[in-house]
Amino acid sequence: MNKIIDLQIKCSNKEHDSFVQLACFNENCKANRIYCLECLRLGYHSVHPNEQYDLIKLLQFIKQIRQKSDELIKQLSSCIEKINLSFSILSQGLKQKYQLSEDQIQRFDAKQLNQALDQMLKYNETAGKILLDVGNCSKETFIQLNKISTQFELNELIYCDQIEQQKGQAQDLEGQNQLNTKILATSLIELNKYNDAIICIDKALLLLDSNHVKSFYLKAKSLLNLRHYNDAITWADKALLIDSKHIDSLCIKGKICYSPMYQQVLQDRLAIIKKHLLLLNKLCYQIQSMRYQQKQKLYVKQILNRKVFQQVDYQVILIL
Ligand SMILES: [Zn+2]
Ligand SMILES: [Zn+2]
Repeated sequence: MNKIIDLQIKCSNKEHDSFVQLACFNENCKANRIYCLECLRLGYHSVHPNEQYDLIKLLQFIKQIRQKSDELIKQLSSCIEKINLSFSILSQGLKQKYQLSEDQIQRFDAKQLNQALDQMLKYNETAGKILLDVGNCSKETFIQLNKISTQFELNELIYCDQIEQQKGQAQDLEGQNQLNTKILATSLIELNKYNDAIICIDKALLLLDSNHVKSFYLKAKSLLNLRHYNDAITWADKALLIDSKHIDSLCIKGKICYSPMYQQVLQDRLAIIKKHLLLLNKLCYQIQSMRYQQKQKLYVKQILNRKVFQQVDYQVILIL
């Protein structure tokens, strides 16, 4: 009871010089929910008089919701625990079936060894299928969880005392959000949900970092898959403007130039290719990583296969 008197919150109506004493629980009410006796006299909530309560009831309600939400988190955790349990069973099964020790093999008879070999010959096929199924399942879950957070604005409403607390974590949070966006957008692209991926990237560019190279690239990739070639080039260029060595963005442009679907006049293509050959030429010397070299080779080979682009820089060819 004392706590309520201690609340001493001024009425948000600036003309009222008193503390709030009542709360309106009507879901559709548009007036201030927390108000003073003066507000009551002015009849702001007179259409639903039975849904007005004092602050004791308000605090009880807040406590009730806190407990219910705790219960919800427990229920959700139990869903994830069930997934964990299924995963343990799956890993155990994989170990039993495919991780045979030499001791075990020595105790096998011909029939058992025959059976083991039979299973192992199908290993690659089985492993591929498991990885694909579990991968899709985990992507779907990841997308659903993020969708729920967005749909119910779970991370957007910040109460005042949490602002201070979050200031210190702001950078970490931004980094984490950036990473989540990247994973989410990549998953959406892999599931062929390109429009959803673009919405997710646009939001991140607006709220997080408006100059994020990876986001530019992912948007270009989504647009490429939607066959919006000119837009894809625009976004790949944005990435290349910040990082001229961003090989994934270069590859997007390479793919577009190479795509028979891209119905631009030949001169346009030639200009794009020439521009990139210069870039690739530089890249071949500057980037040593195998992964990149493989991509460069693939990309340059694609270009060379087009007869119209025979006039290439010979230094590029030398590296192939
Ligand atoms: Zn008031
Ligand atoms: Zn009301």
